Amino acid sequence: KFGFSKGASISRNPLAEIFTKGFSTQIRRKLEGKVALITGAASGIGKATATKFISNGAKVVIADIQQQLGQDTAKELGSNAAFIACDVTKESDISNAVDFSISKFNQLDIMYNNAGVACKSSPSITDLDLAQFDRVMSINVRGVIAGIKHASRVMIPRRTGSILCTASVTGIMAGLSPHTYAVSKVTVIGIVRTVASELCKYGIRVNCISPFVIPTPFVMEDMSRFYPGVDAQQLVKILHNSGSLEGEICEPIDIANAALYLASEDAKYINGHNLVIDGGFTSFKSLGFPAPDQV
Ligand code: NAD
Repeated sequence: KFGFSKGASISRNPLAEIFTKGFSTQIRRKLEGKVALITGAASGIGKATATKFISNGAKVVIADIQQQLGQDTAKELGSNAAFIACDVTKESDISNAVDFSISKFNQLDIMYNNAGVACKSSPSITDLDLAQFDRVMSINVRGVIAGIKHASRVMIPRRTGSILCTASVTGIMAGLSPHTYAVSKVTVIGIVRTVASELCKYGIRVNCISPFVIPTPFVMEDMSRFYPGVDAQQLVKILHNSGSLEGEICEPIDIANAALYLASEDAKYINGHNLVIDGGFTSFKSLGFPAPDQV
């Protein structure tokens, strides 16, 4: 019950605190004191998530293969961000990135295995480029499980932690991407489940996020290969029109918000989950029957 009880100092009254200190002090920063390591954070979804985590009180290590862009991103995000060069196909780079997070910011609470690449499509399974398959798997799959392995190494002794991975709608609905990319993302969803089944014993949660298409650099590169000569603005329009939820588009911030939720105490009982951010795209398919007046 609110009110000014006799003898209570005005500063102890919650309403009085809001009026004297302002509403901003009442907003809870969801990752206060936490340290996160995000792979592929020089750009796109990773960068948006790093920005979101920092504005929620976290310190973030940006691990990426793009050195200049990674350094620029860390500079842009300020003193609560640090960059480390990391190629997720190299286990030693991932191990170093985990150790660097601890030496720089003293602990590791959140590991977000987000780095990933697209791939060229082949006309048929009979033409599948297995060299490309191995390359994509080494980043999208092996890079993810290596990230989980090394994050677990430091999280298990502390018996706490939140591990996130970026999967994709292509991992839950077939026919949306080349086989190789789809297989890599189905596998990420599988990795999350199998690893969560072990790490739950230590209070560590493992979840993934499956975004719908967002015009980030790798998607744009892919699109310009598919539509040679079509300008970037037009390509973005094509991507945005491919969703099903009228009036909204999928953006990096939507994934960053999901990552913040999963990484925070708000999701303290969510584990082994694949959070799909697709405006409902993979949940339904209209039958495509013509309207009665058109038959
Ligand atoms: P992006 O191109 O903006 O970011 C990907 C980042 O990963 C880049 O900074 C790149 O340098 C980094 N990277 C690539 N190979 C690496 C390696 N070997 N080691 C370390 N870093 C490496 O694209 P994005 O859309 O932000 O992609 C992030 C993740 O989201 C990927 O896993 C991608 O598969 C996934 N995803 C993207 C979409 C989309 O439509 N954009 C949809 C679903 C899932």
